[in-house]
Amino acid sequence: MAGTAGNLSARADPEHFWITASGLPKGRLEENDFLLVRIADGAVVERTRAEQSPSAETAIHATLYGLFPDTGACLHGHSVAACLATARTPAKGKGLRLPPLEMLKGFDVWEHRPKAELALFENHVDVTRIARDVRARFRRAPPKISALLVRDHGPTVWGRTLQTAYNRFEVLDFLLTYLARR
Ligand SMILES: [Zn+2]
Repeated sequence: MAGTAGNLSARADPEHFWITASGLPKGRLEENDFLLVRIADGAVVERTRAEQSPSAETAIHATLYGLFPDTGACLHGHSVAACLATARTPAKGKGLRLPPLEMLKGFDVWEHRPKAELALFENHVDVTRIARDVRARFRRAPPKISALLVRDHGPTVWGRTLQTAYNRFEVLDFLLTYLARR
């Protein structure tokens, strides 16, 4: 995670999750660098330092926890591969077809030559707008792959446990790197 990019969260209970405070380098996180946020409205209910604010992308995490109750952790990062992969998918409103590689099994896709699609959203400076788009689309049709990609920005991946989300984040990075280099 370059600079202070990305944000990491984990569910605390059915109604709350912990998320990294804004503006921190993710390789140097400490226990006090997380805020407790309410899923229903994204409000901060606990912080250890008054100057801490939640990550700018908290609205997306809150949306995913709200939509998918079995989600235990949610990870978002930025990568060159992700940006290159979306640059080659010009059409708006279309998903990004993932390559039919063995690594797709990391997302529980077990078909032969699967047609797996990654949900792709347009980037906006106002992140709540991205969160609204995510909610609207996933409410209608939950994604088969527990991940999404924001154009020219980066992926968000979720899973039942922190380790599952972490594994899938790495799997998706592998698949996007493949697409970017092809
Ligand atoms: Zn971001």
